[in-house]
Amino acid sequence: MENAAFAEPVPRALATEAVHAGRDDLARLGLHAAPLDLSTTYPSHDAAAEAARIDAFAATGALPDGPPVYARLDNPTTARFETALARLEGAESAVAFASGMAALTAVLLARASSGLRHVVAVRPLYGCSDHLLSAGLLGTEVTWTDPAGVASAIRPDTGLVMVETPANPTLAEIDIAAVRHSCGSVPLLVDNTFATPVLQRPLELGARIVLHSATKYLGGHGDVMGGVVACDEEFAGALRQVRFATGGVLHPLAGYLLLRGLSTLPVRVRAASASAAELARRLAADPRIARVHYPRIGGAMVSFEVRGDPHRVIAGVRLITPAVSLGSVDTLIQHPASISHRIVAESDRREAGVGDRLLRLSVGLEDVDDLWADLSGALAAGPERGTAPIAHRPAPAHSA
Ligand SMILES: *Cc1c(COP(=O)(O)O)cnc(C)c1O
Repeated sequence: MENAAFAEPVPRALATEAVHAGRDDLARLGLHAAPLDLSTTYPSHDAAAEAARIDAFAATGALPDGPPVYARLDNPTTARFETALARLEGAESAVAFASGMAALTAVLLARASSGLRHVVAVRPLYGCSDHLLSAGLLGTEVTWTDPAGVASAIRPDTGLVMVETPANPTLAEIDIAAVRHSCGSVPLLVDNTFATPVLQRPLELGARIVLHSATKYLGGHGDVMGGVVACDEEFAGALRQVRFATGGVLHPLAGYLLLRGLSTLPVRVRAASASAAELARRLAADPRIARVHYPRIGGAMVSFEVRGDPHRVIAGVRLITPAVSLGSVDTLIQHPASISHRIVAESDRREAGVGDRLLRLSVGLEDVDDLWADLSGALAAGPERGTAPIAHRPAPAHSA
């Protein structure tokens, strides 16, 4: 949204942007909280002017000046979230979608519509991202490689290189600047869901596109689903056109909640990361644990391989929530081979380091000693304690 209300010439720190970006006009409007606009349509007695706005949008996907036309093009509340997220990622623009998967779908369709159907991707990715690429559901074709193989995997019809770092669920890290070097003129997309712009700003390292499942840390409270892409304005226009044509829009209430979530993002991520680092240390010193994965850049996610039965840990937690997804204020634990990466073929899963004894912990804001007591108790849980039948339920195919 490039208008005077959103322009901000003075560079501001991330913590300041988190609270103020996308809201710079509020005081002038006499408001404190952002207004929530639930309109699906906008009245206009001037059909010629509205036609001109529609033509302008059809030409480039740029948001037309003047009042909005229809909620599938644009929504003022969601636009505030988009502006704020763009500022946090250091991007020109951002485009929000109904979910992280809707956001990735729009990116793939936007590239394929210019004839660039081939994607080079590095495993592991989030399970459903892996599935979307592998299944070729959108007419895309994927070559899987490791970071060193990116350059040689690129073809004339390659439209995208995609990586996730730290990756879901192994927390494997990729040198973004090095991969970017291998991409040549092909845009590099980094899924920044785990790191958030608090810990990593991929555009500064040469990535062209940043993707978030906003459902996770950006929302931060486990009560809103959304996705967002931060990129240059030209690609944002292409994404808005795909969003308009395919309808994967974010609900304005979700836009409101995501904007609110961004206010506390830096504080939440730093506090949860401190606890996660401490839990990673305690896990690494625990003889019941075979291996701990914790990224060098930090973060609130910890993965670890148990020596015993991982299902017992899931069944044994009492304070920690045994649930898929991540990035909430409460701590969540799940078994990727059963749940989040269930949809990935077993051999691909194993090759990407997602073994049967791996558990993924999303650390929240509880007291770290309470978390450790619960986790340690669950690790010690014998059959008499782990009675919940979680391990025997059929796994949902699509989950975060
Ligand atoms: C959850 C997740 C997604 C998918 O996002 P949804 O909002 O569930 O559609 C994509 N990437 C990563 C890394 C995720 O964790």
